[in-house]
Amino acid sequence: MPTIDFHPASLELDVWFKQPENRVSVPNDAEFACLQEVNLGAVDVILEALFFRRHDGQDELWAAGLTHDAPGKPRDEQLACAYQQGRVAWAGSQGSRAAGADILFRALTAARQGHVWPEGCLEGPLITEAAHRRIIGELEAGIERNRQEAELQAQAPTLVLARRLGLRPKPAGQSPSAWYADCPGKAHRLMISSSSDQFGCGYCREKGGPAELEALAHQRQEARS
Ligand SMILES: [Zn+2]
Repeated sequence: MPTIDFHPASLELDVWFKQPENRVSVPNDAEFACLQEVNLGAVDVILEALFFRRHDGQDELWAAGLTHDAPGKPRDEQLACAYQQGRVAWAGSQGSRAAGADILFRALTAARQGHVWPEGCLEGPLITEAAHRRIIGELEAGIERNRQEAELQAQAPTLVLARRLGLRPKPAGQSPSAWYADCPGKAHRLMISSSSDQFGCGYCREKGGPAELEALAHQRQEARS
């Protein structure tokens, strides 16, 4: 049996439908992979249908955010009133269709960590309830390992500074050196790497080391006073 590469070089993701070519309707030849409940943080739980398509040597995972009355309705009705839908992950085909779906579902879920997390699987024709549980369990164990490793770097200068500035840094779980902290004076989070001792905010397009973080915090404090 050929071994499955869970991080193939050909893997690509468009988790937030940023590319217009991925923001299109789920194709008819995509097969229903699973229906899951996903948690958008706090109390927001939505239904999401995932679809798998094997086409021209490529595997694709498609997602559709469904309304709560969607289960039981025909697929075209469900998709017609979906919140959003499109292609979220793709890679060169590997193994069985279930293996291909496993690789893409794992990559999608890992990439959404910190924003969206599966609560449970309601139906699983291709990604079965047992596979769903196993994959989520493995991902959660990996996140916990990363958090524990990150704690060992809690004294990195950027983190010490972030605590002094009241930015409440916490291990993010994506990697053994990934941390979240509050972006100074803003209602969103920035990332800190405890290994490179750098911070970066994708919203504000700010990055740098401890000196730049301190300057940013002071600049925002002055702007408010
Ligand atoms: Zn920011």
